[in-house]
Amino acid sequence: MFRRTTRADREFREAQRAGQALLAMHTEWPEAPAPVAASAPAAPAEVPVVPDFLPPEFRAPCRQDVSGFMMRWDLPLVIDGEVHACHCGAYRNWIVFNMRDDSVWLRCEAGHEAEETRLDSAWYNRNSGPVDHFHPTLEDGLRHLGH
Ligand SMILES: [Zn+2]
Repeated sequence: MFRRTTRADREFREAQRAGQALLAMHTEWPEAPAPVAASAPAAPAEVPVVPDFLPPEFRAPCRQDVSGFMMRWDLPLVIDGEVHACHCGAYRNWIVFNMRDDSVWLRCEAGHEAEETRLDSAWYNRNSGPVDHFHPTLEDGLRHLGH
């Protein structure tokens, strides 16, 4: 999903310059000034604080930026103590999707897809590795994961 553009390059360089200027400023001061304590309205605890420094293209994508996440699950998938099987009999080599609405979907090697309501985003996050690829389309993602 991410392709570096000339515009993104420029924004990145500008952000870099801003960062270097900030560093230079700090080295000129004998002591960094103490941060000013401002009484901001208390934010709801569930709103993540995102540093507003880098342009959005360079931030790790958050859940709202993508349609969903996907990963391979080659081993038998145990849910509630039982090995889960597709109606076609497949019980391993799944693709697991975690969609923006929190739902988790399983796709077997034969391409059968079904929502798995016993799994959710928390489960997905516990079991998935870091995001290393972005795919413009679902098909592209499936190809990448070998399906
Ligand atoms: Zn199947």
